[in-house]
Amino acid sequence: MPQFARVCRLWGNRPQWPVAALAAAVLAAVALAPAPARAAQCPAQPFALSGGFGQSTNLGQIKRELVNYGCFGDYQRDLAREIGVARAFIEARAGEVVKPAIVLDIDETSLSNWRQMLNNDFGYIPRGPCRLGAGIACGQGAWELSATADPIVPMVELVAAARARGVAVFFLTGRPDGVAERVATVRNLRRAGYAGWAELLMRNRSERGFSAAAYKSARGFAIIANIGDQDSDLAGGHAERTFKLSNPFYFVP
Ligand SMILES: [Mg+2]
Repeated sequence: MPQFARVCRLWGNRPQWPVAALAAAVLAAVALAPAPARAAQCPAQPFALSGGFGQSTNLGQIKRELVNYGCFGDYQRDLAREIGVARAFIEARAGEVVKPAIVLDIDETSLSNWRQMLNNDFGYIPRGPCRLGAGIACGQGAWELSATADPIVPMVELVAAARARGVAVFFLTGRPDGVAERVATVRNLRRAGYAGWAELLMRNRSERGFSAAAYKSARGFAIIANIGDQDSDLAGGHAERTFKLSNPFYFVP
């Protein structure tokens, strides 16, 4: 999708020129930014593929497309652009409402599990130990408890900018609530550079309607933006605007 068409889709149809100017500046900065360091598990060169992204019908070929997308810059650039659009909106809107707040998903929105996904060849392995690079699968639970997911740097910067404008930040994650999980998630967020958030909301195993219950915690705030990498993160209509980040690697219904 052309860059401006994507921006227009995220913004809706209303003209918002101050936001447009801010977003244009962000896009220019993204275009000039150096590519981030490549994960150790990445191949030295992109795989040669017979078709463009999304053209394959073979699972092994699709995985190679995902490796190319994640290892050679396009994924990080897409995230930076998408987060830049959200940031421009938040910065412009923060001063216009009373008690502004934003809701952020964690995995593939605030923290990146890219190294684990690559290690596991894009398979979801719920249990088992995690030793990246040891030639064995890295279990999801052990990985989360290791608190070593990487920062998504443009989101760290968005949170700092939002906090500087008095915006309350709520993290809302499908990670299961529990003492060890909560401690590890807080440690990982701090390690990644996040600070000053209002609350970390995690899924309660015994509760249904997790999302609606969680949003009650933000009662009294004007939720101006909700950012996530899954459509299911953004359901419910609780936020003024939603921003969907790229994630072709897995699907959460
Ligand atoms: Mg996520």
